[in-house]
Formats: sequence, C-alpha cells, structure tokens
Amino acid sequence: MNAVGENIDAYCLKCKLVLSHVILFKVADVVNRVKCKTCGAEHKYRGTMPAVKKTAAIRTPGAVRTKKPVTAKVTVNDAPVQWGLKISNMAPATPLKSYSIKATYKVNDVINHPVFGVGFVEKTVSDKSIFMLFNDSVKLMAMNINED
Ligand SMILES: [Zn+2]
Repeated sequence: MNAVGENIDAYCLKCKLVLSHVILFKVADVVNRVKCKTCGAEHKYRGTMPAVKKTAAIRTPGAVRTKKPVTAKVTVNDAPVQWGLKISNMAPATPLKSYSIKATYKVNDVINHPVFGVGFVEKTVSDKSIFMLFNDSVKLMAMNINED
C-alpha cells in the first residue's frame, strides 16, 4: 500500500523512463496523480508501463467472446451534496488557505486548490496525508512534503 507523499515508481511521459515519483493524491484508495522527481512534471498515475497500442491480431476472427459477468459495484458519491452543505454553512469570514504540498493542514481547514477549487479537510490520515472533500469527490491529498 502506497501512501500519499511517498515515492512510487511510475512511467514518466516526459523522461520516457520508469522513475521515482511522489504520490500527490489518491481517489478511492487508488493512486491518481504523481509528480516526477526527475523533471517535476505532474501527471496521472498509469503504473510503470508506457501506454501500449492494442494489437488487434490477438483476437482470432469469429472467436466466441465470453462476457464476464458484471459485478455490481455501486458507490454512492454524495461528495457534491456534502460539499454543497459545507459551502452554504461556511461562515463568510472563513479564511481560505491555498494548497501547497509542503504545508500542513488540520481538520476543518478550508483550502483553495489550484485545480480542484475549494476543499474541506475532513480527516488527517497521517502527518503527511489528509482526506479532503471537494465538490466532485473526497481525495486523499499529500501534505507536509519536503521536496528535494
Ligand atoms: Zn519526468
């Protein structure tokens, strides 16, 4: 299990190599965005393999496709509702902190993220990661990261 703020090997599209990246945040416990420690580029985490073009040759014509049974996985995303409630209940004088991976936040801090907009700190997971409620989803964000 990789925690936000920790290093993970990922394929960097700029460097064209598998390099050490810092995990910026996770969504639903899946690494979502990473930052290349070599070139500093931020990108979506795609694992350690470069994108491979699908080869159509593998499938023989007329082969019977076995359909995998679709396992119903219903996740109710009530983040937009919760976020809306928080925004409407927020005191007008509430200070907005701008998000920085190097800063440290605590529960009830209101953060202005350059990409995701206003987010509410819901829970601290460790001294390096926090759950934040944004208007589309709850994200596990890295914080207190000292980049070299
Ligand atoms: Zn890179």
